[in-house]
Amino acid sequence: MLHRLLAAVRGLGSRRGWRKGSPARGSASAAAAPPVALPAQAQVVVCGGGIMGTSVAYHLSKMGWKDVVLLEQGRLAAGSTRFCAGILSTARHLAIEQKMADYSNKLYHQLEQETGIQTGYTRTGSIFLAQTQDRLISLKRINSRLNVVGIPCEIVSPKKVAELHPLLNVHDLVGAMHVPEDAVVSSADVALALASAASQSGVQIYDRTSILHVMVKRGQVTGVETDKGQIQCQYFVNCAGQWAYELGLCSEEPVSIPLHACEHFYLLTRPWETPLPSSTPTVVDADGRIYIRNWQGGILSGGFEKNPKPIFTEGKNQLEIQNLQEDWDHFEPLLSSLLRRMPQLETLEIVKLVNCPETFTPDMRCIMGESPSVRGYFVLVGMNSAGLSFGGGAGKYLAEWMVHGYPSENVWELDLKRFGALQSSRTFLRHRVMEVMPLLYDLKVPRWDFQTGRQLRTSPLYDRLDAQGARWMEKHGFERPKYFVPPDKDLLALEQSKTFYKPDWFEIVESEVKCCKEAVCVIDMSSFTKFEITSTGDQALEILQYLFSNDLDVPVGHIVHTGMLNERGGYENDCSIARLSKRSFFMISPTDQQVHCWAWLKKYMPEDSNLILEDVTWKYTALNLIGPRAVDVLSELSYAPMTPDHFPSLFCKEMSVGYANGIRVMSMTHTGEPGFMLYIPIEYALHVYNEVMSVGQKYGIRNAGYYALRSLRIEKFFAFWGQDLNTLTTPLECGGESRVKLDKGVDFIGRDALLQQRQNGVYKRLTMFILDDHDTDLDLWPWWGEPIYRNGRYVGKTTSSAYGYTLERHVCLGFVHNFSEDTGEEQVVTADFINRGEYEIDIAGHRFQAKAKLYPVPSLLTHKRRKEDVELSDLHGK
Ligand SMILES: Cc1cc2nc3c(=O)[nH]c(=O)nc-3n(C[C@H](O)[C@H](O)[C@H](O)COP(=O)(O)OP(=O)(O)OC[C@H]3O[C@@H](n4cnc5c(N)ncnc54)[C@H](O)[C@@H]3O)c2cc1C
Repeated sequence: MLHRLLAAVRGLGSRRGWRKGSPARGSASAAAAPPVALPAQAQVVVCGGGIMGTSVAYHLSKMGWKDVVLLEQGRLAAGSTRFCAGILSTARHLAIEQKMADYSNKLYHQLEQETGIQTGYTRTGSIFLAQTQDRLISLKRINSRLNVVGIPCEIVSPKKVAELHPLLNVHDLVGAMHVPEDAVVSSADVALALASAASQSGVQIYDRTSILHVMVKRGQVTGVETDKGQIQCQYFVNCAGQWAYELGLCSEEPVSIPLHACEHFYLLTRPWETPLPSSTPTVVDADGRIYIRNWQGGILSGGFEKNPKPIFTEGKNQLEIQNLQEDWDHFEPLLSSLLRRMPQLETLEIVKLVNCPETFTPDMRCIMGESPSVRGYFVLVGMNSAGLSFGGGAGKYLAEWMVHGYPSENVWELDLKRFGALQSSRTFLRHRVMEVMPLLYDLKVPRWDFQTGRQLRTSPLYDRLDAQGARWMEKHGFERPKYFVPPDKDLLALEQSKTFYKPDWFEIVESEVKCCKEAVCVIDMSSFTKFEITSTGDQALEILQYLFSNDLDVPVGHIVHTGMLNERGGYENDCSIARLSKRSFFMISPTDQQVHCWAWLKKYMPEDSNLILEDVTWKYTALNLIGPRAVDVLSELSYAPMTPDHFPSLFCKEMSVGYANGIRVMSMTHTGEPGFMLYIPIEYALHVYNEVMSVGQKYGIRNAGYYALRSLRIEKFFAFWGQDLNTLTTPLECGGESRVKLDKGVDFIGRDALLQQRQNGVYKRLTMFILDDHDTDLDLWPWWGEPIYRNGRYVGKTTSSAYGYTLERHVCLGFVHNFSEDTGEEQVVTADFINRGEYEIDIAGHRFQAKAKLYPVPSLLTHKRRKEDVELSDLHGK
């Protein structure tokens, strides 16, 4: 293989634009050829000649960006790409990952024809085995999602598995999923083919050239320093694989790229006596933790062990050749599993055990996008052992991002800005990837949580809540209560409950919801992102008016729900902003907006020392008092009347609560229920919480968690950013018209797109579905991503769902599209179109009837807002 690679590199080297930065070691001809000088400047420098770097270069050149230089420290495709097992699999949990893999499959399929370079592309199909009913359910859920996006696949019996792959032991199987168009390919050859095509289009490629440092001036990439000299550039793309973390630090402004390498093993055998046909399907036996594919008539088999081996925690890998030590003891559990699945393997001779580093990320998703702090610094890394499958699609989206300013799909789940520096500690990464690697094949039931890297960010009330039975989930490193286990519940049983059906916490959450509806609950929501924007003059108001869709020129004390839109009218953020004074604003955003929103604001804010943006997330503990008796609790604690007449909805006022002064009290909840948010300086948090709980006793107060909140908000048709809304959703598509003021007299980002959309109509609409014939106790539950059918035809997918305890039904939110029956093209979705359909929601292959409801006008205001503006004096000094 090495031979072939070198030959390919040499062969390609003579083509236009393909250079060697230095002679190949030990090569006589190379000794004679002087190294070619690097260009002094380029528009883009891509670091890394693996599948990612070559895919980005390929797609940039296809999109017309030709002034691109790709630098590789060793030989092309000699990193993880070289040792990749070559399995191309489209069966993914995330829709965006499915799309990337599907695109890669199509791209690699035609690459040989396009470039003349053999890539070994062979359509084998894949079989995903299920040893348990839960695994089969998980496969059925994926099966439903693949089918509707045009990727053929079916659930098959063990008997059919045996027909598809006669060497497999199928006795312990309950079923499987067959994806016939999956393929195997030589990933190194794919990378070379991509490089060749890019090179033909003008991309300059230099191997044996190391990037030492990325130069940055005033927050903008200006060039790279290499061991062969400098190149000035506007854009830098870090596709350095397992070296990306370190390279991220080698810049004037370090870029945090949270990933960590682990050793990854597979074995290779000699061919069977009768060699396996090349079309033999790839097998994924996740319950057995192994994958198996045909390899030159024998087999290649690797897996994701329970006890992975992280590597290079203390620094970067200096190795050029990535083959690490064999470790048969370590591989033994996977080998046993393989022998159980394929007993005849005993007779085959093993050639070797390959061991190569691969990178893993804190949430099992790859990382792409622009750095939040350095303009022009892009990354595409952290592939969690699926880099070949994602390479084509990921390279395309990143190239679109660079060329057009945004990718054509919503890639938030993969965006670098979902992380911050907080996920980049080496200890955190080391511990987390040891959990992530086995998780790739673990059965993931809805609402599972990571176990490692926990208790990183906590509210001051954490211990208090924990002692009262809080069960925790994590978001952006922050611990948030899911629900509170009453003292009489069997904790152990609850902890172990993992199911796609009705979960054990059903009754617990039910009682929390009931309390929110009838009395009062307190939810610690401290993880919310909180920013303050202040200025000496009108600068704060002016920039916010430009960046947000609603009118923020409201009287002091008002709270405005508003979207932070992009030029296409899509939500970059959905938040609430309180006007604290004429010149200062308090902004509350979803927890995982901390980096993204900050970067967006910074991008547009003029450099002006009189305009200050401050992240005050850590300064305030946030308590949400939800329920009809919240008003009584607060009135008693503040000696101030809190009824709507005195404290109308969507108002904010600093007041005292108990002994503590300066508590920002806001008459809003995030559920549609009446209540208040209290933003409490952290030193007062415990005091205020204790007072609230003590006074609340007589009103029936109790703690509640995020599961209750989710149920309440979905039942009230409250869409949440990151779950229901994303950068491709406009307010007009999700009932968010009240968050937009087109005639506020100031132009704002996204206004033109919304005006256009208002004229043309929308092509999708967020709709609420109430399941009709669904048995909560016996049927599988909807969670998210379930296909929606209208009059028997697929029209979209759910974005979130919950059991609605008031409606006593399951409620799903999801987008309905209108695909033309003839052309499949998207057409306008009118209210009439929604209302006149008969709907079904597909849960793991079973369709349940559902009633559609279009915007039951979410009552954004918890009480009716007073018509007349409240005077400044009404709100302050009381
Ligand atoms: C054993 C194994 C089996 C796998 N099997 C599969 C599979 O079957 N299917 C699948 O989809 N995925 C698989 N993967 C994952 C896949 O191979 C990787 O995700 C993918 O190859 C990563 O590509 P990359 O371009 O990000 O990294 P790499 O291929 O490692 O490329 C990064 C490149 O950057 C270069 N570089 C780094 N720093 C610098 C610098 N400072 N200057 C210049 N150059 C630099 C490196 O030399 C390297 O060539 C497997 C991985 C392993 C290890």
